[in-house]
Amino acid sequence: MPLLTLRADQMVSSTVFVSSKNTNFRPLRSPERKPGRGVSGRFYQYVTKCAVQPTRMDPRSGIRTLEFTLPAGAAALLPQKATGITELPIRSYTEGCIRLRLRCSRRPKRETYVRDSDWAISDTTWPGEMYTFFNETAIELPRKQHFRHDRPAELTDLAVEGPNVVKISLPDNKCNLSEDSTFFLAVEVVLTASRSFLENGVRAARHTTAEETKKKIARRLTSTSPDDDVVAADTTLSISLADPFSATMVEVPVRGVDCEHMECFDLGNWLASRPSKKSGGGEPSLADCWKCPICGRDARPHRLHIDDFLVEVRAELLADGKQRTKRIQVAADGSWVPVAEPEDSDDEGDAPPPSGPAQESSRVSSRSVPPAAAVIEILDDD
Ligand SMILES: [Zn+2]
Repeated sequence: MPLLTLRADQMVSSTVFVSSKNTNFRPLRSPERKPGRGVSGRFYQYVTKCAVQPTRMDPRSGIRTLEFTLPAGAAALLPQKATGITELPIRSYTEGCIRLRLRCSRRPKRETYVRDSDWAISDTTWPGEMYTFFNETAIELPRKQHFRHDRPAELTDLAVEGPNVVKISLPDNKCNLSEDSTFFLAVEVVLTASRSFLENGVRAARHTTAEETKKKIARRLTSTSPDDDVVAADTTLSISLADPFSATMVEVPVRGVDCEHMECFDLGNWLASRPSKKSGGGEPSLADCWKCPICGRDARPHRLHIDDFLVEVRAELLADGKQRTKRIQVAADGSWVPVAEPEDSDDEGDAPPPSGPAQESSRVSSRSVPPAAAVIEILDDD
C-alpha cells in the first residue's frame, strides 16, 4: 500500500530513562503552512504513526525521558522554513513531508497500553503541572487557557537527524493526581499528503470483501443481541446507502477498520469536508479531524476500507437507473432489494446543501456537497 512506503516509516522509537539538566526555554507554536514549490490542490494532515508509542506516565518525582531516532530519510521529510512576514512561523509543505509533535492524554488508571486507533481519537489533556524539554530546549505546552482546548506541542523545528530526547518532569502534586485516571504521552508523526495520494492509497489498501460483508449481515440476522446500526425487519436488514454529508448514495463506500456499523460514508465527501485552519489559503487539513462521522471511531485515511459489497450494490443500482436509492433490504444469503423512496417535493432544488453529517431523520437532498463549499475553516487549531 503506498501509504506505507514513505521513508517516515524508517522511524525507530524507544523509551529510556536518563537524567536531565534544564537549559533554554522556547514556546513552540503551530506554524502557518504554505504549499511548497510545485504543490497544488488540497492537502491533508493526519497522524500516520508514533515515533514514541503512547507511554504511561504516572505523576511522580524525577525526570523521565522519551527517546526516538530520526533516520536521515525521515529527517529529509521535515518541512522547510519559508520566508514571509507573519505573526506565526511559516513552513512550506510538500507531498509526504512530516511533522513531529508531543501529545498527552488522560486515560483510565487500569490501562497499561493504548491501542493506536484509540489513541488517535483521544483528547489532548496536559497535566496541571508538567515541565518538558525537547533536545535540551524547554517547551511551553499549548494549554486551553490560550487555545480554547489543550493542543499538542510542536516538536518539528527542534527535531534533528539521529537521536532526539524528550525530558519530562511530571511531579505527584495534587493537581496532577486522580483516583481513577493517569497520563499517557506519545510523540506522533503527522504526515501531509495530497488528495490523490490518499484516494489511491485507500483504493490500493485491503478492501472489505463482498463475502465478508455478507457474512457480517448473516451474523446480524441470526444474532439475538440488538444492534443500533441496523434495523432488523423479519429476515432482512435495512442498510442505508446515503452518505452522511451529502445524503446521496455513496460513490466510494468506506468505513473505518474499527467501525461496527454496516453503513458507509463516501471517501470523496469525507476528504472534502475535513476542516482547515483559518490562517490563510493553502493550509492543509487539520491533523485531528478523522473521527468516523457515524460512530466517532478512528477513520484516518490509512484506517479506511472500501466495502466491495456496497460497491457492487451501487453498480447494479446505477445500471438499473436507480441512482436515487437511499436504502436496501438485505437477506441473510446476501440477496438484496432497493427500498423505494418517496418522490421529492417540487421545491427541493431551493434547499441549501447540508454543511455537515446529515441526520437519519433529516430531509433528504438529491445533491452532492460541492467539495469547496464543504471545507470548514477553524481559527487557531492544529
Ligand atoms: Zn464508524
